[in-house]
Amino acid sequence: MTRNKLRLAIVGAGPAGIYAADIMLKAERNFDVSIDLFDHLPAPYGLVRYGVAPDHPRIKGIITALREVLDRGDIRIFGNVRFGRDLTLDDLQQHYHAVIFATGAVRDAPLHIPGVDLEGSYGAADFVSWFDGHPDVPRTWPLDAKQVAVIGNGNVALDSARILAKHVEDLMVTEIPANVAEGLAASPVTDVHVFGRRGPTSVKFTPLELRELGELRDVDVIVYDEDFDYDDAAKAAVSGNKQVFVIDKVLQQWRQRALRQAQEPDAPKASRRLHLHFFAKPLEFVDDGTGRVGAIRYERTKSDGAGGVVGTGEIRELPVQAVYRAVGYFGSPLPGVPFDEKFGVIPNHEGQVMIRDEETGEPRQLYGVYATGWIKRGPVGLIGHTKSDAMETVKHVINDLGNWWQPEHPEEEAIVELLESRGIRWTDLDGWHRLDEHELALGEAEGRVRIKVVPRDEMVDLSRGEA
Ligand SMILES: Cc1cc2nc3c(=O)[nH]c(=O)nc-3n(C[C@H](O)[C@H](O)[C@H](O)COP(=O)(O)OP(=O)(O)OC[C@H]3O[C@@H](n4cnc5c(N)ncnc54)[C@H](O)[C@@H]3O)c2cc1C
Repeated sequence: MTRNKLRLAIVGAGPAGIYAADIMLKAERNFDVSIDLFDHLPAPYGLVRYGVAPDHPRIKGIITALREVLDRGDIRIFGNVRFGRDLTLDDLQQHYHAVIFATGAVRDAPLHIPGVDLEGSYGAADFVSWFDGHPDVPRTWPLDAKQVAVIGNGNVALDSARILAKHVEDLMVTEIPANVAEGLAASPVTDVHVFGRRGPTSVKFTPLELRELGELRDVDVIVYDEDFDYDDAAKAAVSGNKQVFVIDKVLQQWRQRALRQAQEPDAPKASRRLHLHFFAKPLEFVDDGTGRVGAIRYERTKSDGAGGVVGTGEIRELPVQAVYRAVGYFGSPLPGVPFDEKFGVIPNHEGQVMIRDEETGEPRQLYGVYATGWIKRGPVGLIGHTKSDAMETVKHVINDLGNWWQPEHPEEEAIVELLESRGIRWTDLDGWHRLDEHELALGEAEGRVRIKVVPRDEMVDLSRGEA
């Protein structure tokens, strides 16, 4: 049994996977480590590349720190390799002492509501993937609605609403791909309505994301006076929580502006509006008679005095031709790996993957298998949280040394031979540099920071120098 060297596989090259590799390499330990990082995408960085909105360059800049880790050259990258199709758990067990899954969450959480399957009802995760140039979503997006609803009161709802409402000219400094620019330019949208079940003091979005809405050129943010009749719990939240205090302050400014505007009907108005509806619980997406979304039916709610809301029985309807469901992300099961269907995560204790013992029915550790990031604790939290996650998981990998797998082929070349024998066109760090330089050059030619390459084949060809 090799105890002086850990051959570690990490599946998922998003922030969680990259931080786990970095932390393992820097950790105090009495054995050597060699790490292979796999991702099914040809480019690393997960949702930082394919989730964080293109007009948030400061957050996208976290890629610089992640890139520095990879550029040290002490982590091997295998992009365009999908766990469960190109590699199985058995393969990993034959080549590594342990695996950390850092596969994140990319799907939309389900919303159980009549009309959810109508044409014009979209998952926000799919929309985000489209506008961020994910290679596995269709190139075109049906942006043909004038009035749009966005369901949800988190940052993803605000990202979706902002991209829908923003004039495309104001996105042209970003890295949005050509097909996205073309799609957004043709959008006839005039009104984007964001719906939240709770009141303004219970939202999940952050003040920065909210304030940004007010800075959009030629877009008026509209809030409704009826939503600001705070009860004691709401007032206590405003005075006792700094984040709520700032959110309330921003909303109150818009409220005052709306009141002023109502007194000056001739004042110039923006060509697009972004409405924030609180205490509004969606009940149904209404069929327009042709199988398409024609309206959203919702119930007015009110505070229950204990932090929640109850329905008032007052039902309203608003005509919209598209609905975006931003009610959260959800993890995907990985073949051969335990999965918690309810929470969309790999069941684990501090990153040690757990399985139900067939004989006793009790949970027990599945040796050699670990999880970190969103697939470990669910799709909440910022990029920075994946670092503390990784620390916890890596600590267990190190301490579990006595229970690691005993691979038959731990040699570094063995996995390369396996991938080659399967005809897999993987991409490596040099390949990523080639693609990166190509994208930067495309951007420079148009005075932009970067233009993303979207088709997977093109990404792989460029990375492998076969374009
Ligand atoms: C729309 C949106 C906007 C966000 N904006 C911000 C923000 O502004 N600031 C902030 O701090 N956080 C933001 N976040 C949160 C941040 O993106 C997450 O906290 C972080 O990306 C989670 O990291 P992860 O590594 O667990 O998952 P991911 O980033 O999703 O990485 C998972 C990786 O695993 C790979 N993978 C999945 N399945 C397989 C498989 N079968 N085989 C091989 N590889 C696989 C994926 O391709 C991906 O690269 C945002 C999230 C979303 C969805």
